[in-house]
Amino acid sequence: MKYNIALVPGDGIGPEVAGAAAKVLKIIADKYGHEFVFTEYAAGGNAVDRYGIPLPQETIDGCLAADSVLLGAVGGPKWDGVPGDKRPEKAILGLRKALGLYTNLRPAAIQPALASACVLRPDIAAKGFDLMIVRELTGGIYFGERGRNEAGDAAFDTEAYSVMEVERVARRAFETARKRRGHVTSIDKSNVLETSRLWRETVHRLGETEYPDVRLDDMYVDNAAMQLIRDPSFFDVIVTSNMFGDILSDEASQVTGSIGLLASASLGDTSRGLYEPIHGSAPDIAGKDLANPIATILSAAMMLRYSFDLAEEADCIEKAVAAVLDEGWRTLDIKSPEDETWLTGSQMRDKILERLIND
Ligand code: NAD
Repeated sequence: MKYNIALVPGDGIGPEVAGAAAKVLKIIADKYGHEFVFTEYAAGGNAVDRYGIPLPQETIDGCLAADSVLLGAVGGPKWDGVPGDKRPEKAILGLRKALGLYTNLRPAAIQPALASACVLRPDIAAKGFDLMIVRELTGGIYFGERGRNEAGDAAFDTEAYSVMEVERVARRAFETARKRRGHVTSIDKSNVLETSRLWRETVHRLGETEYPDVRLDDMYVDNAAMQLIRDPSFFDVIVTSNMFGDILSDEASQVTGSIGLLASASLGDTSRGLYEPIHGSAPDIAGKDLANPIATILSAAMMLRYSFDLAEEADCIEKAVAAVLDEGWRTLDIKSPEDETWLTGSQMRDKILERLIND
């Protein structure tokens, strides 16, 4: 099969890590007889420099015409002073909007070989965990009505959700659980918030009518924040609102120990998605060949699984990454303090490529 992929390398370490992921996909194409056609587009600070705006129309059109989008990262100190509407980060929000992406999928798993990097108590880390946070991305309090009174000494923000908005993200969570361990935990604050009560009713109605095979339970958000530290192995798929998901996904990623390993996907109604590492453009290490490419390589694996339905190919990438880590290879960000040597970003990339070619 032929797939058109819009490659948006971005700024800082973005081109290094996106380039590594594209190389991985090329090996997968050869190995499984697919054709991945990459077309590169500008977004972020480099687009501000070239076109005066962070998200040129050409990039939007190219991404809309592609089967999926792979992004590195955007931003950097060079553009810190530009006016708000030209901020490089606006490119990501703009792309999500243009592509109609209303769900964010963020896995957080502890690689057994890296249990020592995990910030949890060793007995909890030793149990391991592998969870997926499915976050609503375009509704809730971040997009609701807001304002201040005339005196400016009082302000309000509004959380609003419709059944349709809850259903579409919950459906994605149930479908994702079917591809994993068949368990969804819906997180809300229904003891206090009316939107949460609507959220809970809607998720349950959908679960009972369309996904009776998926185990569904609920948890209040304050308890969920604790359980992610006390017993993250309880979770398989978490589904939650925009703000709760924002906070919990950062918490979940931090407990794993390295942001250089964590992937993400943003999805809408079509199979087209936006795949990117959760980290930023890391200007402090850009151009030094220190960036760990694994988060972006795992984002490419998510693209194969969720946009192209190529589960075997996605498994192949994930296994290659796990094998390289199991063998003890580390980049600077994930090495333990005792390690005296480590791999550069391109050496880590090459280890993974070697593994893919030889397995
Ligand atoms: P960051 O994620 O870029 O970096 C945080 C720390 O993690 C840094 O010390 C960095 O060196 C390290 N790091 C990040 N990715 C790494 C990798 N792959 N390998 C090894 N180490 C890695 O966050 P920040 O410093 O807060 O932000 C830097 C810039 O990135 C800012 O302009 C910010 O706005 C932007 N940003 C962009 C995105 C995005 O493109 N989606 C997300 C977050 C931040």
